[in-house]
Amino acid sequence: MNAFTYARATDVADALRHGGEIDAKYLGGGTNLVDLMRENLERPSALVDVTNLSSEIMEREDGSILIGAAARNTAVAENRAIRTRYPLLARAILAGASGQIRNMATVGGNLLQRTRCTYFYDDDGSRCNKRNPGQGCDAIEGFNRIHAILGASTSCVATHPSDMCVALAALDAMVHVTGSQGQRIRALTDLHLLPGDHPEIETTLAPGELITAVELPVLPFARHSIYRKVRDRASYAFALVSVAAAMELEIGVVKDVRLALGGVAHKPWRALKLEALLRGRPATNESFLAAANEELTDAKPLSHNGFKVELAKRTIVAVLAELAGGVA
Ligand SMILES: Cc1cc2nc3c(=O)[nH]c(=O)nc-3n(C[C@H](O)[C@H](O)[C@H](O)COP(=O)(O)OP(=O)(O)OC[C@H]3O[C@@H](n4cnc5c(N)ncnc54)[C@H](O)[C@@H]3O)c2cc1C
Ligand code: SF4
Repeated sequence: MNAFTYARATDVADALRHGGEIDAKYLGGGTNLVDLMRENLERPSALVDVTNLSSEIMEREDGSILIGAAARNTAVAENRAIRTRYPLLARAILAGASGQIRNMATVGGNLLQRTRCTYFYDDDGSRCNKRNPGQGCDAIEGFNRIHAILGASTSCVATHPSDMCVALAALDAMVHVTGSQGQRIRALTDLHLLPGDHPEIETTLAPGELITAVELPVLPFARHSIYRKVRDRASYAFALVSVAAAMELEIGVVKDVRLALGGVAHKPWRALKLEALLRGRPATNESFLAAANEELTDAKPLSHNGFKVELAKRTIVAVLAELAGGVA
């Protein structure tokens, strides 16, 4: 591990002042960043601890909820308003990591945790374009069982590991960001990037920008929502495929639906094609399967992860059928 300085920010301005230094990194719970520093994959010269900034979870007058970026994952999952109004978010968080890690991990850090691609971590023996741009990617021809089937490139096939972000993508969550250019609010779905030719650039954040909050817009039918995570073990494992969905029905017809997939792409994958196809259709397993097929049309499985295409379709159908009151 390299030498680094440590400062605990007292407010947002203080955080930005320190965070603007070259090679500075914000520190949330440290459950991902410190691991990566131990592995020498992250080498910040300065750590700016932002856990003293807002951790408030506030219901606003318009009905939206604002979650301070320093809120711990456990606090979000246990919050009464979130559990009742956005159960898919509480369930997504509880499906991730362990109780101890969720007690430490913050919302800001969860959004920016890095991929679990095993070749990315193997600094001694593997080539990785994310770690060393231009070096090549050993996952593409290697053991790529956990890798992406949607939106990948010839440079990188890594997936985004966060469960929370999949639920946030389905909910149309907004991310509040502050930097030297002032404050911005952007859709969560615009925060993470697909890999393209530059997998080392993972988000649309500018250097030194700080995530200050996540906003959950009003979505009444999200009371009726599910997060289902399919993984190799019942706990302590990242998603092979996950589905976050909320659906509104009117006399057996899909009035509205929000659905996002995890474990399949470099970013939480909002299923816009599926949603467009389902609106106005009867809420039947045939409609759900047709929409799942449409969403997965462009899937490009690798040598070891072809099973994810079928797994994603089946999980989508099962989740939507459950939301519709039946069982697929
Ligand atoms: C054994 C293990 C199992 C896990 N399993 C799962 C799982 O199943 N599902 C899942 O979703 N996650 C899982 N995780 C990952 C865990 O959720 C993340 O490590 C955690 O959410 C990161 O949050 P943190 O606050 O500790 O972030 P940190 O490690 O402190 O930071 C992560 C990144 O975010 C940046 N950052 C932090 N706060 C801000 C901010 N406010 N603004 C800008 N940048 C910021 C940091 O600079 C760093 O780059 C697991 C982790 C471990 C160790
Ligand atoms: S998939 Fe991406 S993260 Fe994994 S080795 Fe290839 S370039 Fe690196």
